[in-house]
Amino acid sequence: MRGLRLTIAGLLAALYPLAATWAAEPEFARPPYVGAYEPQGVDERGLWMQIDEAERRFRDSPMVLRDQQLNQFVANVLCRTVGQDRCSAARIYIVRDRSFNASMYPNGWMMVHTGLLSRVHSEAELATVLGHEFAHFELRHSLNGFLRARKTTDFLAWLSLAGAAANASTANSQIILIGSLFGFKREQETAADLLSAQYIRASPYRLRASQVWQRLIEENDALRLERGVRKVRHSTPGIMDTHPTNLQRIAYFSKLEQDAGEGGEDGIDEYRRHTAPFMADLFEGLVKSNDFASTDYVIRSRGDAMGWDGPLLYLRGELFRQRANPRDLVTARDLFRRATEQADAPVESWRGLGLCDMRLGDAAAGRASLARYLEVAPNGHDAAAIKMLLEN
Ligand SMILES: [Zn+2]
Repeated sequence: MRGLRLTIAGLLAALYPLAATWAAEPEFARPPYVGAYEPQGVDERGLWMQIDEAERRFRDSPMVLRDQQLNQFVANVLCRTVGQDRCSAARIYIVRDRSFNASMYPNGWMMVHTGLLSRVHSEAELATVLGHEFAHFELRHSLNGFLRARKTTDFLAWLSLAGAAANASTANSQIILIGSLFGFKREQETAADLLSAQYIRASPYRLRASQVWQRLIEENDALRLERGVRKVRHSTPGIMDTHPTNLQRIAYFSKLEQDAGEGGEDGIDEYRRHTAPFMADLFEGLVKSNDFASTDYVIRSRGDAMGWDGPLLYLRGELFRQRANPRDLVTARDLFRRATEQADAPVESWRGLGLCDMRLGDAAAGRASLARYLEVAPNGHDAAAIKMLLEN
């Protein structure tokens, strides 16, 4: 095999001697990198020590999703986006938080929320957001923000929240504050977007940013419609708060995407493969929230983009089962049934199917599904309760 491959490679090199040169010199290059910024003077060094300490405490928080493969995957996407020299400056933590957000502090501490991973559909889309945060870091926007904030009580609040997060088990609201200590200015947002686009055009990825922002607008619309006409506050906290000009952003990204053309990888299948084992973690906060319509939008848009696998069908079933409006149990039962027909069905699909059947009056089918669930997961956290149901 190896010999054959070498022969073909040799042949290609002979036929297309320029190919190697093209690959080595992309049309777009990243700006020269001067290395991670070192704090200057007493003020900045003091700030670094405080942020380093906050990071040390946060590192052990139960809010951090530690799976090595998922972390490695996200780190690889960042490294392919910004290049090896830059990415070594970042230490990534995946944080259990349903908001669409990521942030990077001046010392290289980067947080990627599960709510971001649940909403993007490809490596290329993830790359635009990670690139954007890294650009704020490289352009020292976060450093300047922290230096300003340090003189205010906001910074003390941030420090105490970072400490509190170390012990919090579910702190969806607290961590949001950590992520949005300061709002970047509009021109800083645009500068970060443009540098991010430049990273990506020098990377293996296709530039695909506008659709991410378009979906966030649609998700927010779904939320507002469900809650009525009143203004929605803290709906999709985080990036939405500090990015008030999403329509403008969609317009200039669309133009940049047109210029960049169709070259580069999307990495849709890779993204699906690497995130599928963590669907429960990535969607937990969303499914538990009371925002049915926007959560359903996020689930459906993932299904439309990369197919309906067992875990996603199960999650949508749970969403309907928990809302439990009159026809919801019928819809949930159908979704659970479809989930159980997939090779990658979560075992809980059988529990969902059984519970729906029983509630809908089909006791025999319900019992069969619940028994099947107990068979596969005899030690599940709810096994005792399900057993009692079956004994009645
Ligand atoms: Zn930003």
